Order: sequence, then structure tokens, then C-alpha cells
Amino acid sequence: MNVLVINAGSSSLKYQLLNVETREVYAKGNCERIGIDGAFIGHEEMGGEKQKLVCELPNHKVAAEHVFEILSKLDVKIDGIGHRVVQGAWRFPESKVVTDETLGWVREVAPLAPLHNYAEADVIDECRARLPEVGNVVVADSAFHMQIPEVAHRYALPRDVVDKFHIRKYGAHGTSHRYIWRATDHFTNHETHKLVSCHLGSGASLCAIQDGHDMDTTMGLTPLDGLIMGTRCGTIDPATVCYLEREGGYTADEVDTMMNKQSGLLAVSGVSSDSRDIEEKADAGDANCKLALEMFSYRAAQLICEMAQAMEGFDTMAFSAGIGENSATNRANIVRRLGWLGVKIDDEKNSVRSDEVRDITGEGSSVRVLVVPTDEEYMIALDVKDLLG
Ligand code: AMP
Repeated sequence: MNVLVINAGSSSLKYQLLNVETREVYAKGNCERIGIDGAFIGHEEMGGEKQKLVCELPNHKVAAEHVFEILSKLDVKIDGIGHRVVQGAWRFPESKVVTDETLGWVREVAPLAPLHNYAEADVIDECRARLPEVGNVVVADSAFHMQIPEVAHRYALPRDVVDKFHIRKYGAHGTSHRYIWRATDHFTNHETHKLVSCHLGSGASLCAIQDGHDMDTTMGLTPLDGLIMGTRCGTIDPATVCYLEREGGYTADEVDTMMNKQSGLLAVSGVSSDSRDIEEKADAGDANCKLALEMFSYRAAQLICEMAQAMEGFDTMAFSAGIGENSATNRANIVRRLGWLGVKIDDEKNSVRSDEVRDITGEGSSVRVLVVPTDEEYMIALDVKDLLG
């Protein structure tokens, strides 16, 4: 079965066309700078060179039209389409086939992720119009976290407010954490029972997964909570928001932008949101970059313990996503802070680069430590196959 996976960001649209059975990727790409000057599509086909196609991309609908245009030249029949929806909230505790009703739900919960959900809903409209005979499936990034027990997902706010505004921990990266569990379980031959899954990319979150069940995660109502990220501050005292509005004269939107786009590693390092730049400058002696890396690992180690507490222990931890898969320095920093728990990695194994799942556990470690490259697109394609195949 050939599945087209579409992932709309606020100003981007990633796509991948793959075969679910063979995991062969026919083509993939990203429409970047949608609605901004200098838009282009980075496109890649199996065994081919990466191409950059410059074109006008005023909105996501037009971007989707271009994607269909490009893919129509491939001579690969699309059997189903999977859509990554950032926020599924209470409407999507699992993946669902797109109907008029379920598409309405994507828009209904969009106020919780306005930059992403409306864009993906527009793309779904375009897919249904373009290929009316092909089924579409919504795979919500929050779905996995709807399993989290109430003791962990409820906020201690007044009950009527919580109910009226549907406030709870929804989390994100659920599809990635679900994949990481699956790959870890397979790699360890079902010996993993209590996993702390560490998705550390430009967005970053942890997830406590016990025998496949989601017990807790670090992101909250929105993907702002928890770890320090590329440009997001992660957990701060919520009173900071009121203080900035009252005393600093900032509007709610300005604080929102500050906390989501101008904070995190970018703010602390004063250099970049990209861990590669920060590591390079830290090596050259930059004090702010060193601090950014220390704060990143400090918070990560602290929240790993929080996730372990949700399961009353952990036997495995898995590093994944851009930083987790590629940055030996960040992995080593985090594990060093967990040394008091007996967690150890093997420095030599940690320095090896590979696209495969690998074990970097140190001798005598209390916990198995893995690097698990994530594959959200494959996970989405599997859901499409389950529901439409
Ligand atoms: P993602 O959001 O999963 O694509 O991760 C993107 C982030 O991964 C980038 O912003 C970088 O900070 C980080 N990253 C990617 N490659 C490396 C690397 N070799 N070393 C350190 N960080 C990396």
C-alpha cells in the first residue's frame, strides 16, 4: 500500500510518499516559507539528487496543489493519505478516517493549535477534492497522550474552568513516542517495560511509556511546556505571564511570541536555536553557549526523573530526534547528570554515528540506554493502512 503522509507546519508542508509494507520512500520534500517571500520546495526522489523548486506559495492549499503536481510525475499510485494533526484534543483519542464530521473536529479543536490545525484542515480539503476516490486519515500528535491517567493529565485549576475550556495535558510528539516505543520494544526483544522516551529536536518532549501505555509526558495544554527547546522556554512559573503583561506592558500575543519563538536555547545562548551552532561556540569558550547546554541537560535530567516517577522506575531510556539522534555531547551531558541513579553510557558507542537503532549503554548501568531514530511518517502510514488497508 502506498501512502502519502502530509505534515503541515505553520509555514511549511512536509510530505513523504512511501510503501508501508517495504518502507520504501518514493519521494519526500518540504514546502518552505509558505505565505512568506522566498518560498520554495525542497524535493527528493529515491536515488535522486535533492532539488530546490522556487515557486509562489501564498498558502497551504497552493502548496498541496504543487505537491500533487510533482508527485503525479512519479507514476506511483496513491492508495491512502495520512495527515499529521498537531492537536486532536478530546476528539481524537486515536487516528480516524476523514469524513465531513471528523474534518469538522480538526477545525473545532484548532484554537488549541491555530497555526497548525487550520492549515492541515485546508490541506485535507485539497486532498479530498483532488483525489476523491482516495481515503484520508487524521493522525493526531496528541492522541497517544489521551491514555495518560487523570492524576497526571489534570491541571489543579477550578473544575468549571477546566471543563468549559477543555484544559488538560494534551502533549505532542505522540506519534513519535509511539514509534520509539515500538522500535525499542522490538530492539530489546520485549525486554523493555518502563521506557523514558526522549524526543529531543527543535521541539522536545519526554514520555513515560509502561508496557506500551502512555503514563505521562512533559508537554502540556500546548507544546510549550516541559523541556527547554530551540526557541521555546519550556516550563516557567505561570505567574511570569501575568507579571509581564501587568508590569511590562506586553500583550498576550507578544508574550506568546516571546515564549514560543524568542526563548529557549536561542535566548540563553544569544547565538542560535540550533544545537550544532551552540556546541561549536561552547567548544570555543562562549560562556552563554556553555550555559545553554548545561541548562538543556539539567532540565532534561530533571524531567527524566519525573517521567520515571510516573512509572515508579525505568529500565530503558531512548534518545531520538535531531539532537537525541545526532548530538553525542547532549546525550553525554544528560546521562552524566543521571549518574547518581547508576545510569551510564559507553563513550565509544555514544560517539558512533548511524541511522540504526543502537545500544550505547555503559558497563554496569542500571538502565539500558538506546539511540532510536524516530520515523513519524512510517507510524502515520501504518495507521492509514490499519484504517483503510
Ligand atoms: P528536529 O526538530 O528533530 O529536526 O531536530 C532539529 C535539531 O536537531 C536542530 O535544530 C539541531 O539543533 C539538532 N541537530 C541536528 N543534527 C545535529 C548534530 N549533528 N549535532 C547536534 N545537534 C543536531
